[in-house]
Amino acid sequence: MKAFDESEPPRYRERLATLVDGLVDRRRQIAKLQAEEAELLRDAQCLALERLDEPSAFPDRSGDIPLRSIAAEIGAATIQSDRTVQTHMSDAAILVERFPATLAALSAGQISRAHASVITDAGLAIADDDARAAYEVAVLPLAATETAGRLRPAARRLADQFQPLSLDERHRAARRDRRLWTTALDDGMAELGLIAPADLIHGIYDRATQFATSILDAERHPDTGDQLNGLEADPLPDRRSLDQLRADVACDLLLTGQPATAAQGSASPVRARIQVTIPVRSLIVEDDEPAYLAGYGPIDAATARCLAADAPGWDRLFIDPDTSALQLVDRYRPTAAQRRMLKARDEHCRFPGCRQPTDRCDIDHTIARAHDGPTTVCNLGCFCRRHHMLKHHSAWRVRQRPDGVLEWTSPLGRVYEDRPARTLTFAPAPF
Ligand SMILES: [Zn+2]
Repeated sequence: MKAFDESEPPRYRERLATLVDGLVDRRRQIAKLQAEEAELLRDAQCLALERLDEPSAFPDRSGDIPLRSIAAEIGAATIQSDRTVQTHMSDAAILVERFPATLAALSAGQISRAHASVITDAGLAIADDDARAAYEVAVLPLAATETAGRLRPAARRLADQFQPLSLDERHRAARRDRRLWTTALDDGMAELGLIAPADLIHGIYDRATQFATSILDAERHPDTGDQLNGLEADPLPDRRSLDQLRADVACDLLLTGQPATAAQGSASPVRARIQVTIPVRSLIVEDDEPAYLAGYGPIDAATARCLAADAPGWDRLFIDPDTSALQLVDRYRPTAAQRRMLKARDEHCRFPGCRQPTDRCDIDHTIARAHDGPTTVCNLGCFCRRHHMLKHHSAWRVRQRPDGVLEWTSPLGRVYEDRPARTLTFAPAPF
């Protein structure tokens, strides 16, 4: 391949130089605009905090509802998920309020938004303003010459020098952020993430590797393995790679192993379901009239009250006092068939832009039961907990059309439609 050097015709070099200069200039302009965007997002965050401080606006001060509502307003207007917007608002507030020199460098086009994020991520734990300012002075010249990827480890090292807390103290704080989560991937796959102390994570990885390696060894030396296991040789060799084996072993352990930190039997992933019928008087006045456990018989009222306290939902039964015949079931909870229908129709939370799967959603009555909204599919919708709360605790309003389209009206009065996901798509027939 021919090198692009001074032997190239001058017109090529001139054209490339013009392109590069143009791109450098655009990157500077983008950085300047991103600094302005950060300031606007921070202003939006301030506006939300002001609203939260007004006791009359949110009497129960329920969480960060004004913040979520404003994030949703911006997200709907800019076609972004409101979670993303809320994260951006928080990041912008950190940049503008705590890293003024970094914001100035971004505004001047000296660094990119990616560089600024690396600097704020690494320096966020420096609580003292003077120490943080000194860290900025040290890290910004590096940011002007290194890529964001290379800057990350260098920024962490520098931040450590300006950090008054010891690693032990920070580790103790960081342990509080341990968590487990999943991320959906393409082609029917998903990713399981786990943040835990590094020694445990490495121990887990090592143990899975040892299991996987022993399976590979048994494959390579079938005689030894078969003698040990007392099995006949498998006619089909195991062709899984070490990575595949490690993943399979980890799944087996997590699905079938007992968690050592939980009491025996208390951590089963499958929750037992029972049906208990309780006289309403037993619930209200602590009457001792017994309740009935389906398939068993009467159980004591105290046990029934304990079960009732944990029940996820209720069906109200109207019983003829003379004949004890069941006259009517007033169902608040959707039936299993309605749930299946809603899962198929909605696929994910029905707030514009949200992709939380229905497994993690609440089923909401569009017109509330308190206002005589029926428990029918046309009056039900799947909302994740975040957007369910937004619907009930903010000025966002929703109306459901007969075709399942939800019309959301924002606090600014703008209307956004959320259409049900199309479960079936039709490809043109091949010739
Ligand atoms: Zn949602």
